[in-house]
Amino acid sequence: MSRAELTDTDRRLLADRLRARHRELKGEIHRQFADHDDPQTMALRNRLEDTDDWAVADSMQGLDIAMVSRDISELSQVEAALKGLADGTYGRCAACDEPIPAARLLANPAAVRCIRCQEALERRGPGTPSL
Ligand SMILES: [Zn+2]
Repeated sequence: MSRAELTDTDRRLLADRLRARHRELKGEIHRQFADHDDPQTMALRNRLEDTDDWAVADSMQGLDIAMVSRDISELSQVEAALKGLADGTYGRCAACDEPIPAARLLANPAAVRCIRCQEALERRGPGTPSL
């Protein structure tokens, strides 16, 4: 297997890309928030406020809850990846604990599973509870 290990340069590159993506996602989520006060929106908003310090603007309209949910789940993956980079656990598969090959991480810095586990998860299809 080639390029199984991340070099320090790889890690720096990945950290930069993850931080850039983090900013992008927060900007996207921010734009999506309107001054809705239905329970689902409030729950999302509270979750964001719990995890970070940005203030939700009240003047936006047209919240797309599906898009925001997707962005928030990607944001939490990106945050987990950044945390992993900081504490040295980055690059391990969440399902089987094997190292994720460097090539996969470079293609998808927020990947949390190795290709085998990801494919197994996708084969089970939608509606199946994941781990
Ligand atoms: Zn795995």
